[in-house]
Amino acid sequence: MAALRAADLGKVVTLIEERDQLGGVCLLEGCIPSKALINAVEVVENARRARQFGLTFSDVKVDLPTLRQWCRSVVEGLAQGVERLLQRRGVEVVKGRARFKSNRVLAIEGGGVGTIQFRHCIIATGSRVQPLPKTSNLPAWSSTEALQLPEVPDRLLVVGGGYIGIELGQVYAGLGSKVTMVEVFPYLLTGADHDLVEVVVNHCTGHCFEAMLLESRVTAVEKSDAGFAVTIEHQGETQTAEYDKVLVAVGRRPNTDDLGLEHTRIVPDQRGFIEVTPEGRTVEPHIYAIGDVTPGPMLAHKASREGKVAAEVIAEHHSAFDNRAIPAVVYTDPEIAWAGLTEREARAQGIKVKVGKFPLRALGRARTLGRTEGFVKILANPDSGLVLGVGMVGPQASELIAEATLALEMGASLEDLLVTIHPHPTLSEAIMEAAEVAAGTPVHVSPKGEG
Ligand code: NAD
Repeated sequence: MAALRAADLGKVVTLIEERDQLGGVCLLEGCIPSKALINAVEVVENARRARQFGLTFSDVKVDLPTLRQWCRSVVEGLAQGVERLLQRRGVEVVKGRARFKSNRVLAIEGGGVGTIQFRHCIIATGSRVQPLPKTSNLPAWSSTEALQLPEVPDRLLVVGGGYIGIELGQVYAGLGSKVTMVEVFPYLLTGADHDLVEVVVNHCTGHCFEAMLLESRVTAVEKSDAGFAVTIEHQGETQTAEYDKVLVAVGRRPNTDDLGLEHTRIVPDQRGFIEVTPEGRTVEPHIYAIGDVTPGPMLAHKASREGKVAAEVIAEHHSAFDNRAIPAVVYTDPEIAWAGLTEREARAQGIKVKVGKFPLRALGRARTLGRTEGFVKILANPDSGLVLGVGMVGPQASELIAEATLALEMGASLEDLLVTIHPHPTLSEAIMEAAEVAAGTPVHVSPKGEG
């Protein structure tokens, strides 16, 4: 994004990439292949759900090589598209690993180019998987391996109940694995409101996961004949169990430790993040940093916006990352999404809010889909009615959150949302209805939001 925008603004741009393909983690081994897989599993789930409509399909057979090939083809198509976009703009792509030699020169290792002098530089080196302490030499899966779909293990242990753990845990459960999840905290998805997560947890425990061990920690993993012998401390008790595979999804860390930053004035913080100004500048004003190497959520859409801002600032435009909301989406079944203030943050920061919650079971479109679990909730300033945050769980939450994000970005009030005519029957009506509940004028539920 940064290279494309900078080229469009008339800059001479060189992009340095050490992988053979362009596109980064999101496209090559993250968001895109995982969503292709999640979509495939959703088809299986929808076929199962269709029984309630009187439609039955014979048992689903998973042809792994074809599924793998499908995911690969989606990735390849997009990666080639990125290459074409850069070519058309005359961006020079240099293959190799870049390290700062000084605050004006990069050394490039592994390619045909030795050094590059620059006037401006944007660090967009992303993040990598964090291994489990003391078990980093084990052949456990990270999301990278799991997304390559090498096999569908009979018993899969997922360590970490965050974005990746739940998304990929559900994928493998949908493909037939017996999945156990281990999470250190007493709840999953620590950044999200519990009431949103609870809907997914109920779905997982009753439906797709064999076991969910909260407040639990993996203390040892050893190779065994069956695969892995894993010792888990669960609420004070220690148990050892055998699994065919272990997927470790305990977070990611920024790629800033091997960049030669010591040859500049940039000093990453203890966790490896580089502080930047709203314009994306580091302490070296001509060196910018964007995406997972900077503080904040490790999300591709945040990085994309930051990349655009940095390119515009370099081209001497007035631009800044002054966004009010960065939407978060977890592609679980059902999907979770939120933007702006959460109820937990409001409580922690002592911010007074009024909350309007609209259950999907009271929504016509949700009923026609046979998907009535979930809700939309809106947090608003009790005096002005200004929308402060929106959270939702249910089908298509990943799409619906865009309207909420626009509302937050534009400083919309509850009234703006509730007077906007939403098409009927759609899931988007739930946003309007939640605004009605928060404003105290609900029609389709009781004033407390009960159906
Ligand atoms: P995460 O931070 O979302 O979750 C990691 C989880 O592991 C946390 O709940 C943590 O408490 C738990 N944990 C840590 N150590 C543990 C241990 N020893 N035993 C058991 N549990 C442990 O990290 P992730 O799921 O690895 O994802 C990495 C990043 O990738 C996230 O920050 C996210 O922003 C991004 N991502 C986003 C999406 C999306 O946008 N849908 C999807 C996948 C990944």
